[in-house]
Amino acid sequence: MKGFFVVGTDTDVGKTVVTAGIAAALRARGLACVPCKPVQSGVAKSPAEGDVGFLLEACGNPIEPELANVYSFKTPVTPSVAAKKEGVEIDRRKIGESVAALGKEYEWVIVEGAGGLLAPIGANWSNAEMAFDLGLPLVLVARAGLGTINHTLLTVQAARDRGLAIAGIVLNGARKDGKDVSEESNAAEIAARTNVPIVGTIPWLPEISVEKRQSAGLAAAIERFVNIDRLLENQPQAPARVAQDDLRHLWHPFTQALEWEQEPPLVIERGDGVYLWDIHGKRYIDGCSSLWANVHGHRRAEIDRAIREQLGRVAHSTLLGLTHEPAVELARRLLQIAPEGLTRVFYSDDGSTAVEVALKMAYQYWKNRGEDRRTFLSFENAYHGDTVGAVSVGGMDLFHGAFAGLLFKTLRVPYPEKENYLDNFAFIAKEKEKEIAAVIVEPMAQGASGMRLMVGNAMKEIREICDKHGILLIADEVAVGFGRTGKMFACEHDGVTPDFLCLAKGITGGYLPLAATLTKEDIFRAFRAPFAEKKTFFHGHTYSGNPLACAAAIASLDCFEKDRTLEKLQPKIALLAEMLAPLKAHPHVKHLRQRGFLAGIELVKDKEKRVEYAMDERIGAKICRRAREHGVLLRPLGNTLVLMPPLSIEETDLRALVSALIRSLQEVCGS
Ligand SMILES: *Cc1c(COP(=O)(O)O)cnc(C)c1O
Repeated sequence: MKGFFVVGTDTDVGKTVVTAGIAAALRARGLACVPCKPVQSGVAKSPAEGDVGFLLEACGNPIEPELANVYSFKTPVTPSVAAKKEGVEIDRRKIGESVAALGKEYEWVIVEGAGGLLAPIGANWSNAEMAFDLGLPLVLVARAGLGTINHTLLTVQAARDRGLAIAGIVLNGARKDGKDVSEESNAAEIAARTNVPIVGTIPWLPEISVEKRQSAGLAAAIERFVNIDRLLENQPQAPARVAQDDLRHLWHPFTQALEWEQEPPLVIERGDGVYLWDIHGKRYIDGCSSLWANVHGHRRAEIDRAIREQLGRVAHSTLLGLTHEPAVELARRLLQIAPEGLTRVFYSDDGSTAVEVALKMAYQYWKNRGEDRRTFLSFENAYHGDTVGAVSVGGMDLFHGAFAGLLFKTLRVPYPEKENYLDNFAFIAKEKEKEIAAVIVEPMAQGASGMRLMVGNAMKEIREICDKHGILLIADEVAVGFGRTGKMFACEHDGVTPDFLCLAKGITGGYLPLAATLTKEDIFRAFRAPFAEKKTFFHGHTYSGNPLACAAAIASLDCFEKDRTLEKLQPKIALLAEMLAPLKAHPHVKHLRQRGFLAGIELVKDKEKRVEYAMDERIGAKICRRAREHGVLLRPLGNTLVLMPPLSIEETDLRALVSALIRSLQEVCGS
């Protein structure tokens, strides 16, 4: 759908005339164009009476007024208040659908908002969100005279903060009381300060006023004062260009280019809550939390605001030799909620570096104490990231095999998925206690191996065995941290405090790269010595503890409290289990694994004869590809389908997500 969303810097700036004028001008040029105004208030009787009537009249009444309007209120106040007063609930989705229906009939739709950009339409949304939903660039109508600069600059800033494109600004001489001197200079001032084109200044013209309801000659009048060509240039870029350039310039992570090139890439343009939209306007549920990161949804107002406010102060300043409040405040907040006994926070950029930091700290800790412990004990099928140290303690052949020659040796034991699985672990810990610097483990569930689950109180046992032999314990909660297992941290299930807690992915609510390695005071102290003793931890990254990322992380923790995220998650965990349960009997489901809000569905080609799907059948990828058609984004792990939606997902969306997954599975595998 092409078009514009016409919005004012204020009410009564002449939006309706501009909307009608643009629509009439495009029609006069022979384009299929229709105006509409989904929400209006202060209209005595039928929708046709208000601005909607004028809009349609200006275009020769191409459609019925009911099609150009969804909500009309009698009360002359802002729509959210009028709706409440008249006992109506404004449905955001219905507005989108109604305008999209016009877009199917007409190539161009010119949508008039209701009042100024932030004028409230629903409880927590405004014209800005309406424009966002429709994906149309704004035409900003401002008063031509005195006072317009401040209003216009504020509106442009508010639009930009919300990712809304502005095609142009029209200054309208809506005032009847003659011209004021500022009209001469306003356009140049606004253009210089916003870098948005002023596409026209319309003088007060009685013949096109809304009051007179005379629209004849409107198209010609608008063409005379508004540079319509300039406005049309500012439609969004053709989507094909992004796809083409992607194939030419990008190298995608964890992706086989040969497969990637087989079909046009899915290009994501925007997100809101649990939804993501592609550049064609198709909406998807973000079923994998944008790779296990998103917690409270996309465009969460509080997190957006926190980042913006921090951006207003400073975007980045180093923690090497300096400090800043967001890093300090976040550390305090993390330690408040982390398992008891963790007292120090070391920042880095992502999960892999959080792990590298823990490994190097553990290694040097022993060195600083005069002991030489060179190896680590890790678990089969573990995944701890992609940097060389993290890969060394990883155990996934598919990902790590190619680098075998590059890695340091570690000891490896089976993950405690079954009873007695820790026997081996206990034995090696005892045999090699003086050689092992630390044990590294993904508590409660291994993520990347396909959601393999720990049984019993394995974490507690691991902690006890480590204590018995004086081995440090690294808990990699990069995937399971921040509520995914139903508790804030997975270690809480067994009441365990690790010596190192690695956090990343969800730490910023899924907004920005940031990681933290939390540790205990005695470990910190082992590095604290006169410089010449060479006990300093010489490790750090340029963007360690970046202030924007820390601000996002603090806001995300606030959201956990404000929303009571973990409390509200419990019934959703139960619902997920209930919806997945029938899959246990499915002929192509080998294992169904769920821990909290993490779920893995392992597929099998023939359950009875125990025939696995071959790697080149790409069964997981095929099902996820199919799920897209049903409006859901998922990413598989080999033959395991993974469900990991944002914790904020509502029940209806969770149901839609699981249904789409099951349907895709049926369609691809047969039942
Ligand atoms: C994703 C992940 C990592 C690596 O995190 P990155 O941010 O991708 O470097 C490490 N450990 C676990 C358990 C993970 O799931």
